[in-house]
Amino acid sequence: MTENLRVLSNFIGGKWVPAYSDKTEPVYNPATGEKIHATPLSTPADVNDAVQAAKSAFVSWSKTPVPRRARILFKYQQLLVEHWDELARLVTLENGKSYDDAYGEVQRGIENVEFAAGAPTLMMGSQLPDIATQMESAMYRYPVGVVAGITPFNFPMMVPCWMFPLAIACGNTFILKPSERTPLLAQRLAELFTLAGLPDGVLNIVHGTHDAVNGILEHPEIRAVSFVGSQPVAKYVYEKAAAHGKRVQALAGAKNHTIVLPDADLEEAVRGITAAAFGSAGERCMACAVVVAVGDIAEPLLEGLQKAASALKIGDGSDRSVQLGPVIRKAHKERTVKYIERGETEGATLIRDGREDQAAAVEKGYFLGPTIFADVTTEMTIWKDEIFAPVLSVMKVDTLDEAIAIANQSDFANGACIYTNNASAIRKFREEIDAGMLGVNIGVPAPMAFFPFSGWKNSFYGDLHVNGRDGVEFYTRRKMITSRL
Ligand code: NAD
Repeated sequence: MTENLRVLSNFIGGKWVPAYSDKTEPVYNPATGEKIHATPLSTPADVNDAVQAAKSAFVSWSKTPVPRRARILFKYQQLLVEHWDELARLVTLENGKSYDDAYGEVQRGIENVEFAAGAPTLMMGSQLPDIATQMESAMYRYPVGVVAGITPFNFPMMVPCWMFPLAIACGNTFILKPSERTPLLAQRLAELFTLAGLPDGVLNIVHGTHDAVNGILEHPEIRAVSFVGSQPVAKYVYEKAAAHGKRVQALAGAKNHTIVLPDADLEEAVRGITAAAFGSAGERCMACAVVVAVGDIAEPLLEGLQKAASALKIGDGSDRSVQLGPVIRKAHKERTVKYIERGETEGATLIRDGREDQAAAVEKGYFLGPTIFADVTTEMTIWKDEIFAPVLSVMKVDTLDEAIAIANQSDFANGACIYTNNASAIRKFREEIDAGMLGVNIGVPAPMAFFPFSGWKNSFYGDLHVNGRDGVEFYTRRKMITSRL
């Protein structure tokens, strides 16, 4: 029932307009179970309105001098910094993550805007004055046109900021379809961009779920689609967008492994893994889901992890002392509980049971304490599937080769970490592991805005990744001119 809730509007051509459909989905505060707003479930007709607005804005935006576009990005960066605390609180409200995690997420979003503000350099072409006698060649860079972004619930600020600031800085106009579960941040991001001087129609927001997504994927005038979300949807978006002639980059799910060697700094490993496994309630694509302990370190490591997990304060993330907030929805908590039951029946040893934490018994709010399984094997579902919750699997092997072989068996290959001070082990890990984002003695090796976010295998569908030079290539097309002068 969403009848008394404020239904969010779409943002099209600089105006907040109601969606055509009166179907909605409630937006909850996951810490209290309270319904705070309703997301309209837009249709392809809403998407089409946004495309027409974006198309007409493209005519002048694409011709706006690049330094002038960049100046709006600089102003936007200032406004985001000024509203940092407000944005972080909004992330916590709709996503549930702790204030500290939310604050860090806002920082990551701002860094993307800072990178995009370098558009005058990023948009440069190149030339060779002497390709033959009295002949020269030059490459010019242009925007692609109307482009769209479809984003997940787990980073309502950072992930949209992977997309629209750079796309817009490159001269494109943009349609954002935020997660229906965390739509509020997108609204605020658009308001602040408008305040920074962004012309109407350059950034548009269409709320909704699969109907809106299909409207984007099938629309002939959308040239490129950036997607971040779960693996099956990423694959679907990749295939369908490509079938409709679009560029597509689709970032998908993960099951990241952390290898701990016997010489590792135990305290550092426990601290980093605890933050990576249970931070943001395990709802990070770079979360540590599996620890592979090599040799004798397994016992003290398990002991340390159990102790550190039990010391985490669980609760409403808006309380600044809380470290572990709720998962996103009741259904997600129930799904996670099923995975824990499955882990037990498949023979893993439950070292710490998050179902027994006091907070997990609270009826309102979707809390689950940190859960740790030992004796996990690659046959088990808890090893194979992305659980996306505060559940950590621990395995024990005798050698680094075995640890790498286990990680490489996963269908996913987003990130992988190693804790050791042994240079040749680090080199071996770097050369042999199948994953796109590696960490050495750190828990969450998420690359910064000026490098690509570089998942492999089923963690990514496409060619050019988001961020860095990849992002610039994705959001631009090139013209080559060869001249005899
Ligand atoms: P999700 O796939 O449920 O939703 C992502 C987007 O797709 C949303 O906007 C949603 O409305 C839309 N969508 C959902 N089902 C759809 C369908 N059937 N047809 C068309 N559109 C649909 O993902 P989520 O639960 O919001 O986010 C969590 C997932 O995102 C995890 O798997 C996580 O690993 C992944 N993720 C990956 C990265 C990365 O960089 N690889 C980053 C963040 C999150």
